[in-house]
Amino acid sequence: MRAATSTPPADAGVGAGGTAVDTHCPYCALQCGMTLSPAGRASVRVRPRDPSAGGLCQKGWTSAALLGSPARLTTPLVRDGGTLRPASWDEALGLVASRIKKIFAERGPDAVAVFGGGGLTNEKAYLLGKFARVALGTSQVDYNGRFCMSSAAAAAHRAFGLDRGLPFPLADLEGADAVLLAGANPAETMPPFLSRLRRATDAGGLIVVDPRRTPTAERAALHLAPAPGTDLALALGILHAVVAGGRLDHAYVAGRTTGFEETWRVAAAWWPERAERVTGVAAADQRRAAAILSEAASAYVLTARGVEQHATGVDTAGAWINLALALGLPGRRGSGWGCLTGQGNGQGGREHGQKADQLPGYRKIDDPAARAHVARVWGIEPSALPGPGRSAFELLDALGTDDGPSALLVFGSNPVVSAPHSARVADRLAALDLLVVSDIVLSETARTADVVLPITQWAEEDGTLTNLEGRVLLRRRALAPPPGVRTDLEVLHDLAVRLGQPPERFPADPETVFTELRAASEGGPADYSGVTWDRLRAGERLHWPVPRQPEHDKPEHGKPEHGKPEHGKPEHDKPEHPGTPRLFLDRFAHPDGRARFAAVDHKGPAEPPDEEFPLYAITGRVLQHYQSGAQTRRVEELRTAVPEAYAEVHPDTARRAGLSDGAAAAVVGRRGQVVVPVRCVPTMRPDVVFLPFHFPGAQRANLVTNPALDPVSRMPEFKVCAVRLTPAGEREAR
Ligand code: SF4
Repeated sequence: MRAATSTPPADAGVGAGGTAVDTHCPYCALQCGMTLSPAGRASVRVRPRDPSAGGLCQKGWTSAALLGSPARLTTPLVRDGGTLRPASWDEALGLVASRIKKIFAERGPDAVAVFGGGGLTNEKAYLLGKFARVALGTSQVDYNGRFCMSSAAAAAHRAFGLDRGLPFPLADLEGADAVLLAGANPAETMPPFLSRLRRATDAGGLIVVDPRRTPTAERAALHLAPAPGTDLALALGILHAVVAGGRLDHAYVAGRTTGFEETWRVAAAWWPERAERVTGVAAADQRRAAAILSEAASAYVLTARGVEQHATGVDTAGAWINLALALGLPGRRGSGWGCLTGQGNGQGGREHGQKADQLPGYRKIDDPAARAHVARVWGIEPSALPGPGRSAFELLDALGTDDGPSALLVFGSNPVVSAPHSARVADRLAALDLLVVSDIVLSETARTADVVLPITQWAEEDGTLTNLEGRVLLRRRALAPPPGVRTDLEVLHDLAVRLGQPPERFPADPETVFTELRAASEGGPADYSGVTWDRLRAGERLHWPVPRQPEHDKPEHGKPEHGKPEHGKPEHDKPEHPGTPRLFLDRFAHPDGRARFAAVDHKGPAEPPDEEFPLYAITGRVLQHYQSGAQTRRVEELRTAVPEAYAEVHPDTARRAGLSDGAAAAVVGRRGQVVVPVRCVPTMRPDVVFLPFHFPGAQRANLVTNPALDPVSRMPEFKVCAVRLTPAGEREAR
């Protein structure tokens, strides 16, 4: 076992002197457990623990290095004469509050916007949404999770009436004989996850759908490599093969679903040979996929960003759900459909109110009953709650325009690197009257801010996150933060008070915030009312919904149920609902209890290749980096391993462009160009250029990505746009 070490702040606190603290990795939605052991003041040792069944990936092992990073911000910064200079908290927050008040007076509350992140804890996501709706009174709040999971979430709502990434525990996958992974590359994004698929892999049951031969595809018995933007046609072809091959689960379809006939009317026209002409995937391979899935005793269909990040992302995710329904998988123990969430709190972050159309508990902001419930918890009139606001890209695109916000507060996000058409987003940020960024380092977005607020990071604060299986986890503080930084919750509390709110309405203590979140979520789809930090501290595995147990259903006072430990709480305060590891076993969440097929058809990418831009650009991740790279690019081991972006292409594609391996190339699209070295990879499709998206400046993949939005989820089409490849520096005739 390898231990990673780093130098923590000088006043390392809770875990100092070698006291081990159980917590969770700061990065992806797997939320691997780890034990941090700060040894004196010299180093932080990282050891894996539950639920990291397969150990940690390189990002997790090196995560402690960020705690002692010299790049860490420890004092607020304010822009003065064009440059950022250190300031006191009082000056920085006073400046933010006075500028917001001025903008309110001139243009009203919707002139101030808030942009959150899928890495924020549940408590932060909750308080941020409340801050926006109550302290600012603005409807203009959304978050970067819109870029990440919103299409699968919308498709799951449509099909099942409820969205939880995996509606079953991760451990269930260990019994699978067959798993189809569509648009997912866990060998790089969350390597320990692959240990859950060992049985399916060994049994020859792993099917991977990806235009690239990724490290995940290398392990598959069957790799299907469709042309970018044609996954929906491929899903239709496999569905056709299932039905035409007599593999439809008639009893399940008749007993547990609706809408199959309409769906089949579309899919009947997608016989595998036709799907082959559109996708490039051999008809025989489509039939083989249908056979592997239908003949397995235990099978799962799992999707991720490769399916979702399209202008047809909801329908594409829906097409894979249709396939799972036709095979009778969802809502059965030992089989199912699920979506692999990306960001650390991608699940909880979309449940508690930082999304433009939602209130806590996964409630809809335009639902009168939901508004009344949340307004009651917040102590305001329902009429005081704003309505739905703009979605993430639409919000960023409106900044500084005549009818858009003129101030933006950013928490836990770096849109200058992570938003599509990022040069335009940078222009919109520059047009603001006020940009405030709360971050641990001077990210590319923070560099452009008027005020930068230095905040605590993962191991310096307590909070809960909800991982990809809907399990609520307690991330615990292991170190005292460096002097000068504050938590996001303290920042929101201080700003709310300066904007005239009563201090008790915006608590800064995370457990107190969670207690309020429980009440706000009670009765909603994502009901956390029965979750307490004491239950989490005691190690209970709680998957939502966890409703509060009615008083009369509780065990007799003073007698612990099932031998569970007492946690120092009076019995009448202790909820006992065991949580819901598996959803839909008896019924789906629609009023009739049935799942819905969706009659979806192939449309193709919004920007197909043409004579001028003959290649597809696709984007994705590498093992060593996370999201915009703001954290991982500052960890030496990770930066050294992958210091920059590159364009992965087939050697013939490079040769035709006059490029050799390692040469500097311009990947030129309609919105801009990315300048990166070429990496020749013989397994690449000759019509595809792959760009990792973790890098800044001229290497930003999002300089070329297309902000075309899905009409339902409003998720941009990150995954495919048209480009050409040329040697860098060659003048482009435009
Ligand atoms: S990045 Fe994800 S897979 Fe890697 S250690 Fe962290 S939680 Fe686990």
